[in-house]
Amino acid sequence: MLQPQTAPSATDPWLVDRFADIKVLRYQIDGFDELAPRQRVLLYYLSRAALCGRDIVYDQNYAHNILIRRCLERIYASYTGDRRSEQWSALEVYLKRLWFANGIHHHYSTDKFAPTGLSKDFVAPMLRDVASPDEVRCVLSIMFDPSVAPRRMAQGAGFDMLAASACNLYHGVSQPEAEAFYAAMQRPGDPQPISVGLNSQLAKGPDGRLFERVWRVGGMYGHALERVVQWLVLAATVAESPLQQRTIKMLADFYRTGDLRTFDEYNMLWVSDTESKVDFVNGFIETYADPLGYKATWESVVSIRDDQATRRTQLLARHAQWFEDHSPIDPQFKKPHVTGVSAKAITLAQLGGDCYPASPLGINLPNADWLRQQHGSKSVSLTNVAHAHEQAALGSGFEQEFGLSPELIARAQRYGAMASRLHTDLHECLGHGSGQLAPGVRGDELKNYASTLEEARADLFALYYIADPKLQELGLVPSAELPRAEYDRYIRNGLMTQLVRIAPGACIEQAHMRNRQLIARWCLEHGQPEQVVELRQRGGKTYTIINNYDRLRDLFAQLLREVQRIKSTGDYASGRDLVERYAVRVDAQLHREVLARYAALGDAPYTGFVNPCIEPVRSASGLVVDARVDYSEGYAEQMMRYSQQFSYL
Ligand code: ZN
Repeated sequence: MLQPQTAPSATDPWLVDRFADIKVLRYQIDGFDELAPRQRVLLYYLSRAALCGRDIVYDQNYAHNILIRRCLERIYASYTGDRRSEQWSALEVYLKRLWFANGIHHHYSTDKFAPTGLSKDFVAPMLRDVASPDEVRCVLSIMFDPSVAPRRMAQGAGFDMLAASACNLYHGVSQPEAEAFYAAMQRPGDPQPISVGLNSQLAKGPDGRLFERVWRVGGMYGHALERVVQWLVLAATVAESPLQQRTIKMLADFYRTGDLRTFDEYNMLWVSDTESKVDFVNGFIETYADPLGYKATWESVVSIRDDQATRRTQLLARHAQWFEDHSPIDPQFKKPHVTGVSAKAITLAQLGGDCYPASPLGINLPNADWLRQQHGSKSVSLTNVAHAHEQAALGSGFEQEFGLSPELIARAQRYGAMASRLHTDLHECLGHGSGQLAPGVRGDELKNYASTLEEARADLFALYYIADPKLQELGLVPSAELPRAEYDRYIRNGLMTQLVRIAPGACIEQAHMRNRQLIARWCLEHGQPEQVVELRQRGGKTYTIINNYDRLRDLFAQLLREVQRIKSTGDYASGRDLVERYAVRVDAQLHREVLARYAALGDAPYTGFVNPCIEPVRSASGLVVDARVDYSEGYAEQMMRYSQQFSYL
């Protein structure tokens, strides 16, 4: 009944599907065959735990996402008309976008996407066959009325962010009410503060009283979390070490109780397990989707250590104290002892929740500042994902279009991929873990600007050090051309090319994108007198050019010092001014130009992945004794299967 998949073309085995502004790639689990059977079984159990929470993030993103998905999937499975018609294709693209974003809002811009080319008259009769009259009305108005739930998340000053955001993390609660509720829960002076609000929806009862619907077994999302726990319990039976076993059991306990102290205990165990070959992230982790920054979306990543790439990041981690000591920040904000900055590179084996299908390139956890300070953090770069990106980018014509000269293009092609991997390593292994808060600063003072400023801090740390002689000394930078390639790429991306991800007329919302424009625009402005960075016109096109790489590095140092001061002292006003001035607004004319040039290339600005299918191998008596992996599944095929097998809400 399923639509036959777009087969990956013979010339591009990485590409699985291409629609709207998205391409879907395949990744391979390098090293799967070298694992012991027991480790492969562990991988299988953890990958099941990763898939069982899929519905949670749909519901977190918007309360009606699951309903809309189900209705459209029923239509998708049972449609008997012409699957090559324009209307059907438009519906298919809409559904593929919905799957990609875990809901009806764009995964990156958070704006609701329009049902381009799709008419209400085409959808309505089919909906009536698969849904109740109330559901039909609800789905049609959400899909076709642009004024209904226009944005998943709206951040800014001067309006109620919760009222303006469609996300389902708060229910009937205003921003001032939510802020007051969580301010009252803070315990000033607590050396080990829990991450208040992390794993619950904040709602208002009929009596006007606020209360939390906790995401736990027996509570909100209980049916999905029960399944996650079931697979975790099995995973614990084949853990690689007693430590890993305790870690997995503690996570299951957290899901059973929803107790955030247990979550912190779990984090302490998790961060100290640096030996396991098979590792995972599973939980309510990142708070990017909450305009107020309290509530975390559910995500999972299952991985295998990549030993060769790990040696590179461990080299950095071993010298973490040197980097801290030589950082250009104010000495009072340096950590006297950088504890346990462990770092490794991983081969991704399975993505789930908010990490699927759009995967991060690097991960650094846990997020709580005190945990990082007292117990260190675990940092990973996803090497096979980076590899798939690089393979897909080659030959897209991007460098040729946006590079000013053949020399710059050649340098980018030679060193670009290596430079961006090293940047990610520095950002994740050292950048986020560096620096400390001033006494009395809690760490939540920067509110809605915290994510952007934190990413800026880690990026600036990476940009400053990638050009440091120390990296050549450590053998990580083969040529002075490498940092220059990175500076070219970073500045060009921050000033121009990342705008391909922004719709005409929109502002920048996403924290990483804000941070990149913040850094690039700040350097453009502050280097103006000496023309350190220049936007140069040639043949009617704009190019970025760096005239003085050493001075640019000084500017990175200067801004790093300021952003660290803002974080360490909790200086909300300065943080807000920096972000609002440099990071949010887009140069409309330049934006139009970039979009037109990019459109002519025919590439897609966003990338996601289908998961390899990890299947159990059973003994004659039915015991799972090994696992095998299959890469043949297509994008829609995988999404439809997940909705059948792993939908619990
Ligand atoms: Zn980061």
